Amino acid sequence: MNQIYLDNAATTSVRPEVVQEMIKILTNDFGNPSSTYSIGRHTKALIEASRKTIAKQFNVTASEIIFTSCGTEGNNWIIRSSVRDLGIKRIITTRMEHHCTLYSIKEMEKEYGTKIDYVNVLPNSEIDFNHLEELLKDSQPTLISLMHVNNEVGTVLDLKKVADLAQQYNALFHSDTVQSVGKVEIPLDEIPVDFIVASAHKFHGPKGAGFVFIRKKNVLKPLIVGGEQEKGMRAGTEAPHQVVGMAKALELSYQDLNKDRTKITELRDYCKAKLQENFADVKFNGNGSTFYNVLNIRLPFSPEKAAMMLFQLDMKGIAVSRGSACQSGSQKPSHVLAEFLDEVEIKKPSLRLSFGHENNKEEIDYLIDVLKGI
Ligand code: PLP
Repeated sequence: MNQIYLDNAATTSVRPEVVQEMIKILTNDFGNPSSTYSIGRHTKALIEASRKTIAKQFNVTASEIIFTSCGTEGNNWIIRSSVRDLGIKRIITTRMEHHCTLYSIKEMEKEYGTKIDYVNVLPNSEIDFNHLEELLKDSQPTLISLMHVNNEVGTVLDLKKVADLAQQYNALFHSDTVQSVGKVEIPLDEIPVDFIVASAHKFHGPKGAGFVFIRKKNVLKPLIVGGEQEKGMRAGTEAPHQVVGMAKALELSYQDLNKDRTKITELRDYCKAKLQENFADVKFNGNGSTFYNVLNIRLPFSPEKAAMMLFQLDMKGIAVSRGSACQSGSQKPSHVLAEFLDEVEIKKPSLRLSFGHENNKEEIDYLIDVLKGI
């Protein structure tokens, strides 16, 4: 049975060119990048070339890119170090952030007494900018932590608008860009955001590799200590194959961006139209103009049907996620949907479909047929 993968927001396949690059490094370049002899210097040079490749995609300098193991690490680091080392006393965020952001912020509240202000979320899943500005008027050392693209519904934040507000009110701005890096241009020379976070497995690179951008004026201290790697900003022997694979994946993502974005947008629109054609009462969670690769749908199914839905899709070879009232095996509502759906809406089964450049219309047709059979 062919697998139909419609969960590209969870993770993505690794591009064949990336695998080839990584195999090359694993086979030939085992030197420790911290060693001073030539095979060490060689792997160090590979890492530094990757840093330059990545920095170029955002129009920033290579020294502003630090490698990490994943998006979770990046978000934890920036939030913790902002409070511990930059004197942040209050964090403005939403309840719709990824748990790695939300839980990090909660830790800061517990450990340092950091104040948390949650920005209101509108029924269309966007943040209330008036409320954000109101909060900012209460001046105190503040970090704004707002994600660029929401991983469950695809709500897009206007990064420039928030970055400008942050500047106006003298706040720092951290954005979790894990879902948008490699999928949309982020010109950091034009958008004065202070910190962004990326994870390679979301843009067809390897798992276990990520990076953060830290604008030069902000001097963070490391989360992981005990070595001089990454200019002392993140101790631990580097993984050259991961870093090179990530840089290659990012380069290819931006090289193919226009082509892939057009294809994925068409697929998303086709899927939306097919769903409307076949399920009169289908609803789309979010503001209707969500990011081009995500469709979070609410289906007119009974609770009994809903309980079996993911299982039946899986049996038919379709991989999707449930961003809904009850995740399989638990009755816990999605913390994201709970922010903007009402009590009746949240009880309906929701599905997150997230598309990639490898998907096609036949797969969508098959999904619709399977959903009709449930
Ligand atoms: N932030 C967002 C928005 C995500 O979607 C994810 C992954 O699902 C993460 C952070 C965590 O990234 P990682 O899986 O690299 O730890």
